[in-house]
Amino acid sequence: MPGFSAPRALFALAAVLITALAAWIAAGSEAAGIALVGASVAALVAAAPPIERPAPEAPPPAPAEANIADAVEAIFEPVLLVAGNRVIAANQAARTLLGAHILGQDVRVAIRHPAAAERLLDSEEGPAAAPIQLVGLGARDQHWEMRVRTLPGGHRIVHLSDRTGSHAADRIRVDFVANASHELRTPLASILGFVETLEDAADDPETRTRFLGVMGNEARRMQRLIDDLMSLSRIEAEKYRAPDTSVDLPELVDEVYGELAALAPDRTADIVIDSDPVAPVRGDRVQLSQLLHNIIGNAMKYGRPGSPVTVSLRSSGASMVRVAVTDEGEGIAPEHLPRLTERFYRVDSSRSRAAGGTGLGLAIVKHIVERHRGRLDIASTVGSGTTVTILLPAATVPGPLSS
Ligand code: ADP
Repeated sequence: MPGFSAPRALFALAAVLITALAAWIAAGSEAAGIALVGASVAALVAAAPPIERPAPEAPPPAPAEANIADAVEAIFEPVLLVAGNRVIAANQAARTLLGAHILGQDVRVAIRHPAAAERLLDSEEGPAAAPIQLVGLGARDQHWEMRVRTLPGGHRIVHLSDRTGSHAADRIRVDFVANASHELRTPLASILGFVETLEDAADDPETRTRFLGVMGNEARRMQRLIDDLMSLSRIEAEKYRAPDTSVDLPELVDEVYGELAALAPDRTADIVIDSDPVAPVRGDRVQLSQLLHNIIGNAMKYGRPGSPVTVSLRSSGASMVRVAVTDEGEGIAPEHLPRLTERFYRVDSSRSRAAGGTGLGLAIVKHIVERHRGRLDIASTVGSGTTVTILLPAATVPGPLSS
């Protein structure tokens, strides 16, 4: 083939690949990913002789299909190269998703999905064609985004991106907004109802005092919820910034004990602090105080009145400190345990609300533990009680610290 030179083709291929790779890194988007896939294969197709009609005078080149397959294989997401309607190359990810038999198959049979078949029938779509969503390809709850691009030689590239994670994150966000609105609307509706009733019963001082008391409680419930929502968003915003101060946990436990004792004097005598001398931890003092408030507070709320709540502090190996809070309450059935750290998940909603709970306490604990690169474990036996254990890295672990 006149003009075909392996070194020049390789040079051209390298240049296009580097450019596309740079675009990918700079843009960080799937579109740039597609550009990389498209550019790689376009460069190979341009550099190599045409697949189906090799020029008669061309010296025997490296098989184009093999080169294309190599380029396609290098992509981590499922990619298929299609000539006509036949799959002529499919990378490992595509073979894992669709089956090893897809090579040589009609692409609409290979990707067994009605929406995919419809798009693949439409050979007219241009380079800017929008991606389509495929739900249930591979597994029932999997979400894929499929893009099809036609290369200059007429081959088509089919690229599948796994969107299961972002779809689940969207779902969580939507549910969270709906739940938070609902949680705020209930006390607000109650306050508005009492305001209207008060307007009619303003002359009766006893009724007025009672109604104002209920309104105050509902307003405080809203305030607790808003405080917890703001804490959660602050902690999430700092998720990737590891705490860098040294925190003395026994001292902090004493401080939190004092604060809780002032809030719930009837339970103060039940709190037992069993503290070994432990290394300071690498932490954020305000967040660790909130964590202790939430787990000791829960043990006080859900433990049986008059039964002990034990807070123990121990070293765990040379590099971790373990905080465990144990109560002797009713305990939690095993099916609830994995969901306790979800926002607004409660085992018994009316009990949580009656105790002033927002349903966000353990979600906040989980986020604080994650930010501290620690571990959270909740163990419970119905009828005996619950132990919440948290492991935190000691400040002796290398890295800059201030106190
Ligand atoms: P809440 O504000 O409702 O207490 P949390 O997120 O702190 O929310 O806890 C979620 C749920 O987990 C609670 O509603 C309660 O049902 C359960 N729970 C948490 N801690 C305990 C405990 N120590 N004993 C029994 N149940 C608990």
